[in-house]
Formats: sequence, C-alpha cells, structure tokens
Amino acid sequence: LVNPAAGTVATTCAYCGVGCGVDINISKQGDSRDVDTLNGCRSHPANYGRLCVKGSNLLNTLEPEQRLIHAYIGNEQVSVDKATSFVAEQFNKIRQEHGPESVAFYVSGQLLTEDYYVANKLMKGYIGSANIDTNSRLCMSSAVAAYKRAFGEDVVPCNYTDIEQCDVFFTIGSNMAWTHPVLFQRLERAREVNPNLKVVSIDPRKTATTQLADLHLPLTPGSDSGFFNGLLRYLIDNKKIDQNYIDQHCNNFASAMKACSSWTLDKVSAFCQLEKSDITQAYQLFADSPKVVSFYSMGINQSNTGVDKCNAIINCHLATGKINKPGAGPFSITGQPNAMGGREIGGLANQLTGHLDIDNVDHQQAVKSFWQSPTIATKAGPSAVEMFSKIQQGKIKAVWIMATNPAVSLPDHQNIIKALESCPLVIVSDCVEKNDTLAFADVKLPATGWLEKDGTVTNSERRISRQRGVRKSSGNAKHDWQLICDVANKMGFTGFDYHQPVDIFTEFAKLSSVSKTHGLKFDITGLSKLSEQEYNALQPMQWPINDQYPLGCSNVFHDHKFSTLSHKANFIAVDAQLPLLGFKETDNNFIVNSGRIRDQWHTMTRTGNTHKLFTTQDQPFVSINIEDAKAKQLKNNQLIKIANSYGSITLPVKIDEGVGQGQLFVPIHWNKQYASSANVTNLYPAIVDKISNQPQLKQTNATIETL
Ligand code: SF4
Repeated sequence: LVNPAAGTVATTCAYCGVGCGVDINISKQGDSRDVDTLNGCRSHPANYGRLCVKGSNLLNTLEPEQRLIHAYIGNEQVSVDKATSFVAEQFNKIRQEHGPESVAFYVSGQLLTEDYYVANKLMKGYIGSANIDTNSRLCMSSAVAAYKRAFGEDVVPCNYTDIEQCDVFFTIGSNMAWTHPVLFQRLERAREVNPNLKVVSIDPRKTATTQLADLHLPLTPGSDSGFFNGLLRYLIDNKKIDQNYIDQHCNNFASAMKACSSWTLDKVSAFCQLEKSDITQAYQLFADSPKVVSFYSMGINQSNTGVDKCNAIINCHLATGKINKPGAGPFSITGQPNAMGGREIGGLANQLTGHLDIDNVDHQQAVKSFWQSPTIATKAGPSAVEMFSKIQQGKIKAVWIMATNPAVSLPDHQNIIKALESCPLVIVSDCVEKNDTLAFADVKLPATGWLEKDGTVTNSERRISRQRGVRKSSGNAKHDWQLICDVANKMGFTGFDYHQPVDIFTEFAKLSSVSKTHGLKFDITGLSKLSEQEYNALQPMQWPINDQYPLGCSNVFHDHKFSTLSHKANFIAVDAQLPLLGFKETDNNFIVNSGRIRDQWHTMTRTGNTHKLFTTQDQPFVSINIEDAKAKQLKNNQLIKIANSYGSITLPVKIDEGVGQGQLFVPIHWNKQYASSANVTNLYPAIVDKISNQPQLKQTNATIETL
C-alpha cells in the first residue's frame, strides 16, 4: 500500500477508542507529501463520515522534523540493525545471568494488534515471563476485570447502534462530548431524531456532556458504587427486576441482593451527596425504560474501587434483563485506538492471548503448543505500577518501553523517574524524537507512525478495522512488529519469521480457535485464511467472526450464554466504598479530579505538534468553583500551588461553576515539555484497585496556596 496510486485509502483514526474510519485523499503518486487531505469515512460504522477536531487535524501531526528517524545507543547514532543486535545481546545476557523475570516490556494501546501480538508472544512464550504490561492498565483494566467477573470473559456486550436505539442513556464518569466526541455527536443526533430519548449524566462536574442531559447528578467523586447499589435495591423493592432472566441466565443474585439491602434512598443521598428527588428520578428512568445503556469510562475505572463500580452497574442490567438486546447494556468505552486489540492478544500481564487465562494449566499448554514455543508464562506478571517498582528495586534490569510515555502518565511519578534513572538498560521505541521518557533511554529505536504503519485495531464495540500505511517509513524507522521480531530472531528464537502484517494477523486469528475450544466468545477464525489482498481489503467488522458469522456479529451474547462454566452471568456482591484519597484530611483539602480536555490527547506527544489544537486552550489550568475562589480570594489566571505530601504542581486558576465546591479539576496532558510544573501525576501516589491493579488516577487530595 505504500505510495498508492492517486485516490482514496481508508484507514482508522489514531486517537481514541471510538475508532473512526478516516479517508486519506492522495492527489498523485510519489513522495510522502502526496497525502493531501483527509475526511471521515462515510461507510465506516463507527462514525459514518464524522470526525472530531483531533481526528480532523491528524495530518498536521506528521511533521518530519518531530520524528525519531535514527537509532541511538547512548548518544551515538547507529544503524537500526546494530541497535536491535545490541538489545538482543543485552536481553540474552541479562536473562541468562538473572532469569526471565529480569527483563520486561511496557507497551501501549497505540500499538497495532500485530505489534502487540509479537511482543506478547516473545515475552510470554519465548523469554518465559509475564513481564509485559500495557498503558491500557491505566485506562480500562477495571472494566476488563469486571466483565470477566460477570460474564466469565472480557466481552463488551454493546454496540454503537445501541446509542440510537435506547430509551435512556446514562453517561457515568465520562465527559464523552470531549473524550469520545463522535459518539457524543451520535447521541445528539439520536436525541434530535427521538426527542423522547432521555439522557442522565452522573458526573461530579458540569461538563459539555452534562449540558445535553435531562438530569445531571453531580455525585461525590468516586461514590458511584453506592449509587448503583441503591439502584439495585430500588429495582428489587419496586418489583422492577426480571426474575425470569435472573433465574435462567444468572448466578449469585441472592448475595448481590444482600449487599445492596442497606442502600436506602437516605443512605445513597448521604453517600453520594445528591438530592433524593434527583436520585429517585434517575432510578425511575432506569426502572421504567425497557432499553437503557450505561456508558462509562475513566471516571469509573480509574479508582481503587473501579472493578466494584463496574460490577455495580452490570448488576443492574442483569437484574432487569436490560442486556444483550438492541439499545441496552453496560458499555465500557476505551480511551486508546487499540486498547481492545491489546485485550484480545493478552497484552496485560495477567492474561494469555485470545482471552485465555494465564493461571489455567490447560490454557497455558494450549497456547504453548500452538506457538510451539520453548516455554510459557505460568503466572501473572507485574502490572504497570508494580513493574516500575520492580525496576526501582533492581529486580528488573532491562525494560523496553514501546509507544508510551510513562515518565508522565504513571502515578507515583517520583518513583517512576527514580526507576528509569536507576534501570541498567532502558530501551524506548517511538515515532517521536522527544518525550519525557526518551530522555532516560539508553537505546532509542525509531518506529513508524500513523499513515506509515499497516495493521489492525479493535474499537470499543469489538470492531476490527484496518489501519493502512500510505507513506514510506520516515528515515530509518521500522514497524514495531519488525523491531520486536528482529530482536527475537537475534536472541536465537524461531517463530518470528514474519514478512508482513497479514502473516501475524492470520496466525493470531488461527489461535482464536483455541479460545473457542475453551468455551470463549473471542473467535476470529473466519479471518485466519486471509490472503494479503483480502487483508488489505478487509472491511470493519465486529467479532465473533467465524463460519457462523463470516461478516461478524453485533450481539455476541444473543443466546444469553455467557462464558462461565454454567453459561450464566454472575452477580457480584458489591461493598460500596469511597475511593482512598491518599493524604491526610485538612481544612484546606481539595479533591483533585483529573481528566482530559477536548483538543488534547494523552501526554501531547501528537496533539502538542498541532497549533490549531491550542486555539481554545493554550495553557494548562486548574478549575475551581466560584465560591471556593471567592473564599480564597482567587482570580482567573492567578497562579496557585497545588500540593500534598507527595508532590506539587503550579497552575493558573480558571474559575468554573461546573466544578463542585471543595474540588479542583486538572487536565492530564501538560508535562515538562510544554509547561514547567503542570504534570498532575506529581500528585498521585500508587494507589491501585486490588483486583485490576488499575491506578487511581481520577482523584487525590491536596491543598492549595496562592503564590
Ligand atoms: Fe479520532 Fe476519537 Fe475523534 Fe473519532 S472521536 S475522530 S477516533 S479522536
């Protein structure tokens, strides 16, 4: 596909988990400047031609001067071949001296499925350790764990068309107008077409999303599981449950019923700090509407109680049978373009490929046998935060960081920096020349970027789409899968002799037959025989994709047979708790709520290169409620220091009536490259959910001080 003839090439947006189709319009064949314009792909089922401001400006992020185009060992520029030989030699030396647990990969939801697959195969099947985790741990691992607890498998049982088909749409812990804008546009349109569609927004802040809502419930940050335990009790008390559905398709209802029994309206009101009348109104809407979607993202997941919060939501859908039918279901939305692909290939340290279990001996042997690999990881490896802690302790002596920026994004910031400083060998492969993590690299490997890479991604509704490369690689950059396979081959392993992405993808698709054999829904065997031509022409489709559903299947649990042994879904008894905030309460304490803004992305490594994306917000800020600002005598743009015993940041004030009293809102994007003291992870200790190990990156507490 590189240097295609003039015309249009369909690819996928490189930003969020909506996974919008993008048409690249090429005016003439030739060098890399021939990619002229882009627009939303009209036939892609995620967006039908729509794009948000980030997606519309993607072409402006590809400036050659911002790219890492050579390999480096230390400060010396070397060939990529020399650099991968060095990495292979060092990895072999370290693992021979210290064992397989002494090396690690920290990967990313920005990788394509093919990249992810070979990285996971190398670490778990050949090096023989589960020391591979992904930055997706930070955004959705609680949702993964909750689906697994409820359904026996990490399966999202919803589709984007549910947005158009529901009667009531709950947004929970999600400012989707800014974070998943095209889905918000679909919601706006659905409201125009069906004025009876009600929107309920559960969010501590007033946001662009809550403006659309018929009912906004500004609950205490992190109190969601109390709210949904209360809903379950309300449904039971008011005989709004579907007892037939529960009896036929669910386990464990009695324990969930017991756990929610104390959650009276009074208790929910006190716990969530909400008006009883508002709570009742929301509960009635859920109870009386046949088709309800609960749409949730980081506000639910990024918490030490994240998994329970997800399960408290899922419980209400199971109890009413509002699941596995058009317009209904608990819908977790991912933040990155291929977080879902990473879930499918087993990119988390506690998974095997194809939704198989790392601690299940049958699953281990089946994957090992499929790969014909010398070994297989037999226990969960360290999650992201644990991995960097092991690096700091000297237990992991070499880490390869791929396409992510942990020096900014991980909590426990100061210890992450110490870990990177003290690690004997840090390898960073990336497509950008500068980011905070690259500053610690002993070896830099130049990776191809968007419009150069070829492969697949899976979006939040399980839809696999192609990303298509239309540009030549910049400088000496190689595809991530090539860099990984080069190192694997040079380490002396067979099993990495791939020539093109389709070879990797079809192997992965074949491996999904093992998942199917073990009773799992993840099945893309229908794509296991694709030729290169068919792979290049692949149209977006939702798994499962197999003989029964050659064009994919939108309702994965249409027969209500879940992936548990009994084929029944599990209710989970949720002990609702407020999140641990980490620091001692004082009179001057504020809850710091972190989040994203409309025009920036992650740690700004891409959006930071686009001037247009600074038009509406060109500097970092801290939002504070108008009453708090008055009490503290603060004015707009005045600098304040936000501090706790862990660290501090300094930001200009933005007075915002949408932020609750006693709370602050700080965007996650700015870091040292763009502002001297704005990195919000300076305030976040390493508090994680005990089930998912997802860090609590949503709330912490801190004091403020005028400067
Ligand atoms: Fe890209 Fe997400 Fe915007 Fe779609 S909604 S254009 S995937 S950033």
